[in-house]
Order: sequence, then C-alpha cells, then structure tokens
Amino acid sequence: MKYLLEIRNLTKRYGNLLAVDNLTLNVPEKSVFGILGPNGSGKTTTLSIILGAVFQDSGDFSWNIGDGLKDNEIRKKIGSLLEKPNFLPYLSAVSNLKMVAKIKDAPEDAIEDALKAVGLYERRNSPFKTFSLGMKQRLAIASVLLSEPEVLVLDEPANGLDPQGIVEIRELIKKLSLEGKTIIIASHILDEVEKVCTDVAILKQGVLKEIYEIGSNKNDYSYFEIGSDDMDTLESFLKVQPGIMEMINKGDFFMVQAVADISIGELSKKLSDAGIIANHLQKSKKSLESVFLRVTGGDK
Ligand code: ADP
Ligand code: MG
Repeated sequence: MKYLLEIRNLTKRYGNLLAVDNLTLNVPEKSVFGILGPNGSGKTTTLSIILGAVFQDSGDFSWNIGDGLKDNEIRKKIGSLLEKPNFLPYLSAVSNLKMVAKIKDAPEDAIEDALKAVGLYERRNSPFKTFSLGMKQRLAIASVLLSEPEVLVLDEPANGLDPQGIVEIRELIKKLSLEGKTIIIASHILDEVEKVCTDVAILKQGVLKEIYEIGSNKNDYSYFEIGSDDMDTLESFLKVQPGIMEMINKGDFFMVQAVADISIGELSKKLSDAGIIANHLQKSKKSLESVFLRVTGGDK
C-alpha cells in the first residue's frame, strides 16, 4: 500500500504542555483518514505541522506526492482548510472565488469546476450572505479545490453546521473521495468520522491511542452489554470465556469486547447453560464508539 503521508515520531510542546507526543502514523493514498479526539488532543497542531504552518520540536513527516516534484509544487497539491476563509458577504460565490483564485494563482476556469464539484454552480451568482451554513462551508471547500489538490486537509469541517449542513459536507467528502482524492479530516465528533472515514486515528492528549480501520476484518470484534442480578457469578463466567478481550464493569452490567463475531443467541445460550440469568443483554453495533470511549475515557 502506498502512503501519501508518513508521520514519524512527531513531537510538539507549547511550554510545558506536550501538544503532540511522539506521533507516528501513515495515511494511505486515497483514504478518508480521520484524526479523532477530544478537544485539546493535538489534532489542529498536527495538521498545522504537516501543512508547514507550525514547526515541530522533533520528528518528521513526508508527503509522497508527485515523484520528483519540488517542495512548492508539492505544496500546491495539498489543499487545506484550517480556518474558515473570509468571504465577502455581499459578493457572489463566483466573485469571492475569483479573489481566492487570484491570491492562489489558480486559473479562473477552475472556478466553474470547483463550484460544480461542491454543488453550488446554480447558485454561483448569489451573494455569499444568502447562503446556508452548509453552502458556506461547501464554498470554502470549493476555494480549496481551485488549485486542484490531490489531498484535502480539513480541520473540523462540520463544526458549527446544522444537521442539514453536516449531511451536505458528508456527501461532498464522499464524492471527492470517489473522485480519487485523499482526504484527511480532524474532528472531535465520532459520528462524523465514522460516517465518512475509511481509517481513524484516535488521539488523546497528543498521544496516538489506536488506529481503527472502518469495515475491516481486523476490527471485527463484537461488543456486548451484559448484566445480571448476580454480577459476581457473571464476572467469573465471563473471565473464563475464550475470545473475550476486555470487560469493563459499568455497575449494573459489563461492557464486553469479544474477538469474533458472536450472536446474541449464542451468548444467551451459553449464559443459560451456565445457569446465569441475564437481565440485560445487548449487542452494540457501534464498535468505533466503544473504542473511542475506551481510549478517551469518555470525554469529548
Ligand atoms: P485539538 O485541535 O485536538 O483541539 P490543539 O492541537 O488545538 O487540539 O491543541 C492541543 C493542545 O495544545 C491544547 O492543550 C491547546 O491548548 C494547546 N495549544 C494549541 N495551540 C497552542 C498555542 N499556540 N500556544 C499554547 N498552547 C497551544
Ligand atoms: Mg482543533
């Protein structure tokens, strides 16, 4: 597999605060790569470093884009949205993009393509201020597309959007991914990441806690909640079950992670064979959620 971005032992301190702590990760080409973590976990700092906006204290990274291209040419293939662009409210979408194209030295004919790509071509002559939040964010993404990047780096692309806007951005990211772009997204919203990403790196306090491939067999664990009036007997039973990776006592029930895909039926039969009456038995589909909660301890 080709990695479009390789990050090796990246570390960044702000005074005493370790914002990014010895981070090593690889972003596969054409993936939608999510960097997921609670606020303050070092996502924006990491993106700022790989975009050259902030210098790391140690470690390094490399973009494997366009063999033999010079640094400034590589830079053009990386489109980024770290901060919201300042569009002028009374100007149309087209006029705003014309200004951006001038600054970025992008060809004006890229504007039409970019507007079409984000689904704003029909509204190209409407003033920016008449746009919904989702449309504003889509225009921001259009401004990134002007230089026809191979990779998009988006920091919290759904932040502040209403549900409709979130859906619009999600659909747009999926579409751009299908067109072959690699997309790196930082987000603190599990749901957002889970719905669009192919790979997820979970950060907490600057430390990489886990890499999670959505839909891959590697993560084909089952997650269960199991409760019984007799939690001690249940605990002894669970402890000797093969394939149980982890169990967390939640008071009234255990949260259990099993290696294989086990059905509720099988589990419930095993329990009754052991004479245990479960008063709570539920399979959790959201395995990324379980991982996220486990590694972050539940803070968002
Ligand atoms: P995230 O994007 O995951 O919310 P950040 O990368 O913005 O996290 O921040 C990581 C940590 O570094 C936080 O504790 C934040 O307060 C701190 N931090 C970020 N930027 C600066 C800065 N310029 N000066 C001092 N501390 C900073
Ligand atoms: Mg941030």
